[in-house]
Amino acid sequence: MLSYKKRFLNQERWRGFFIVGALIFAISQSQASTNKAYEFYLSGDITKSADEYLFNARLNPQNIMPLLNAGIVYKQLGKYENSIKIFRQALDINPDDSDILCELGWLKFHLAEYQDAAELFEKAIKNRPNHTRSLLGLGSVYSHLNRKVDAINYLKKYKKLRPDFSGIDYIIAWDYVNFKMYEEAEQYLIEALRKDPSFIEARLPLAGIYARGHKFNEAWNQYYRVLDYAPKHPVASKMIKVLEGKLTKQPEEIRPPFKIKGPPKLAPIDALKELDESTKVRVGIGTNNTGAQGKNRILKFKSFEGFKVIGKRSGKLYASAKPDEIWTAIYENNRVVLKNPENKIYGKFTGPILVEPYNPKNGYIIFERIKNSDNTWFRNSDRAYRGIMELYPIKNRGIGIVNIIDMEIYLLGVVPSEVMSYWPYETLKTQAIIARTQVLIRKERGGKHRNQGYHLCDSQHCQVYKGVTAERNSTNNAVVDTQGQILTYRGRPAQTFYHSNCGGHIQASKDVPRWGHISYLKTHQDLPKEKQKPMDSPWEFHQWIMSNPPSNCNFPPATSSSHFRWIRIIKHKDLSYRINLKYKIGKLKEIFPLKRSSSGNVNALRIVGSKKTVTIDREHLIRNVLGFGSVKSTLFFMETNRFKDGKIRNYWIYGGGWGHGIGLCQSGAAGMAGKYGKTSGEILQFYFPGTKLSKIKYIRKNKKK
Ligand SMILES: [Zn+2]
Ligand SMILES: [Zn+2]
Repeated sequence: MLSYKKRFLNQERWRGFFIVGALIFAISQSQASTNKAYEFYLSGDITKSADEYLFNARLNPQNIMPLLNAGIVYKQLGKYENSIKIFRQALDINPDDSDILCELGWLKFHLAEYQDAAELFEKAIKNRPNHTRSLLGLGSVYSHLNRKVDAINYLKKYKKLRPDFSGIDYIIAWDYVNFKMYEEAEQYLIEALRKDPSFIEARLPLAGIYARGHKFNEAWNQYYRVLDYAPKHPVASKMIKVLEGKLTKQPEEIRPPFKIKGPPKLAPIDALKELDESTKVRVGIGTNNTGAQGKNRILKFKSFEGFKVIGKRSGKLYASAKPDEIWTAIYENNRVVLKNPENKIYGKFTGPILVEPYNPKNGYIIFERIKNSDNTWFRNSDRAYRGIMELYPIKNRGIGIVNIIDMEIYLLGVVPSEVMSYWPYETLKTQAIIARTQVLIRKERGGKHRNQGYHLCDSQHCQVYKGVTAERNSTNNAVVDTQGQILTYRGRPAQTFYHSNCGGHIQASKDVPRWGHISYLKTHQDLPKEKQKPMDSPWEFHQWIMSNPPSNCNFPPATSSSHFRWIRIIKHKDLSYRINLKYKIGKLKEIFPLKRSSSGNVNALRIVGSKKTVTIDREHLIRNVLGFGSVKSTLFFMETNRFKDGKIRNYWIYGGGWGHGIGLCQSGAAGMAGKYGKTSGEILQFYFPGTKLSKIKYIRKNKKK
């Protein structure tokens, strides 16, 4: 008996070892398979990724994650039937999981199977009454089932849970438009635009509603604002012309232009004396979104102190203007023609001339707005700049404008153009340091504008610079306090790239085509180190981008959460038109993200047309193709919505962040200082780990003791 028991025990032990061993083997095999599947997902082998996740699901029949991942991978590919089959399997394991019910609901919704979708969302909400994405789904389904009151009720419940998300106002408005309830739609569109003025997809229907209701002045104003963000928008350009004859007010009354009436009211900067004689920088003024000079056929300018005009090469004094006199420069036969206020010609120049205020320390040149300028920069607003203005003819284009200015003085106009002057002071200092470093990088390497004759442009392409009118006391102090400070890596200025809002995950430069491998531009979550958790599956990414997760840059006191999370619904025919402007693909059949960075950013977009298939892999081209005035970022998930007959109705794009997501997140920097009291030094180390804060020694040529 004893020996039997002993033998039995031994057998049991061996069996135990075997089970544990097999388990370890299975786990490591399963882990390897998961890693492989995710690798396929990121690198563009999407079908292989789904296969691998399904293989993994068979290895672990009780583990739900491989199924969820496979389901999302098929969804990304647009294969909704496969996706539904897989999520049904997952639901067999966890029948009450609201996330799965909700996902199934959305797939059914996009396939126009509204009754099924409604049941799934209802069940998800029964289990979790505040399940936001199900509330959005149920509202959207009811709208298609023509249950108007219910639809709006559920969408409003969602709005209560995410009150500062402009996307929900937009969707509610979208439904009201479908119900032909235009007054209600108008209110919600106005609210969406209050939260996000750059939301042109909301501005267009608002303009349409105004035009419909014969509010022509308001409609005109909205179309005009669309053109601010998307200068060539076809509908807005056409409607502006149509409406012009119907206005009851002058355009200037509807949209009062910005006039500069006197010198800015700023506290004197004691250190301004010290600030000049830094390095000189050349800045292209009034440039477009690629940083090229605008078409300036005519410029009007003045100075409160008077100015002189000097030939750049000859050094000859051509003209002296009295205070407040408005002079004109006209582009004619590839020359700049200079005229005084009485229209007397003071010269026709084939080369550059310099316009210099009489009081170079505190004086500045003001460009008056030009009502019919081809350059939107000068159309609605006067612009004022410190330093010297260089004007020169650009063949067959117009007058080029370059601001020649001390670097530190230039930064006074950059910092408040790039961040809000009311943001935490440490963030303003951080911005001053990285903007200064950018100048040195571009000066040193010649930069992108070498052939255009300037170091930096004044648009988002390099860094935004709105001159002296943008200056505020807080940002001026931040520039003075950090005077000469830059970020270096191995003794050279560091590549301090920055963007408005990363959406919660910083992207590594090496993950983005043509950005290069820069060791301190790493990928990481925009969260304090101790709160970072790896996110390495399609399902997690999908849930994350559709929700409102914590992040340094999810910080409503400083920055609108409409930049952190956004949504766009684009009609099939609009997207098809938009793509065909540049890529002649014929009829749009499929569009889906092909490759992603580990941050989730799309770095290749596949577009299948009836004539050809294209893959777009450049960051700005991906953004440009998805919207007029481009979508905010490449961090997004797309859904395709169909009619009952299978034809595509529209695309839903759920996005996060604004900008390229590399380097420093400006909203995140505001959050780090505002939420956690971090200093500029700590913020810089977080976004550019391994770099060093250094100080430039300016050469002072004429310094007297
Ligand atoms: Zn530029
Ligand atoms: Zn961020």
